[in-house]
Amino acid sequence: MAGWQREGQRVGFVPTMGALHEGHLSLVRIAAQQCERCVVSIFINPKQFAAHEDLDTYPRDEASDIEKLARLNTDLIYMPAVDSIYPPGFSTRVEVDGLTGVLCGKSRPHFFTGVATVVAKLLIQCLPDIAVFGEKDYQQLLVVRQMVRDLDIPVEIVGGPIIREEDGLAMSSRNAYLTKAERKLAPMLHATISRMAAAIGGGAGIREELAKARSDLTKAGFVIDYLEVRDAETLESVADAALRPARVFAAALLGKTRLIDNVPVPRSGG
Ligand code: AMP
Repeated sequence: MAGWQREGQRVGFVPTMGALHEGHLSLVRIAAQQCERCVVSIFINPKQFAAHEDLDTYPRDEASDIEKLARLNTDLIYMPAVDSIYPPGFSTRVEVDGLTGVLCGKSRPHFFTGVATVVAKLLIQCLPDIAVFGEKDYQQLLVVRQMVRDLDIPVEIVGGPIIREEDGLAMSSRNAYLTKAERKLAPMLHATISRMAAAIGGGAGIREELAKARSDLTKAGFVIDYLEVRDAETLESVADAALRPARVFAAALLGKTRLIDNVPVPRSGG
């Protein structure tokens, strides 16, 4: 990496947990557009899974991942072993306060510490010029930005838009868990929060819209973890979406699969 940079080539880095889909590949394309060299890591980070979560069953498909990345001319695929990232005696944790107290941080308290710890380590190992993260995990993107700022890690964090299936479902490695019937129902999450965001952007009351969306989704079979409208930068609760850029954030279980999604509240006028 440093060799490339000494020759004046910029390095873009995309950290992933593998089972790559078009969402991941869109980030690789963003890195490739902005940089001469592109590095992708595939590492299923045990520290961001709680004991009851799906670490053991998380989808893995290394051969197909490598093939997909080769087609995009990825310069380096980094697939470290768990022991090399967390050797015996590893005892450091990176914790980002504030942003992590809400949404996914509330329902998965271990999660962002695991993410921040591994992303800090990967960024320091690789020291790319930019690192690209998806807005699919919008809170994660903000947490990584905050961490990089706080720790003076000299890397620019770039966000990439959410890539969706044709029916609106946000692409996710975990979508592979959905049964046929659940897969059919799953796009309703995006449809509902999009409708809500449009209504709120048009002046409808946030509380009323949240209640209606919550009831629609629950009736259809979703078990809602959270459904909230929050500030797009600070993640503070928003009472009036006309005042600041806001987003609708949702997480819900469909059977055993946890789906997350978010959309911006459109702003009327200028
Ligand atoms: P993961 O492998 O789930 O840890 O995700 C690796 C990166 O890909 C993260 O920055 C995610 O936000 C991003 N990502 C996952 N799904 C999507 C998607 N549907 N659209 C855009 N980015 C995504």
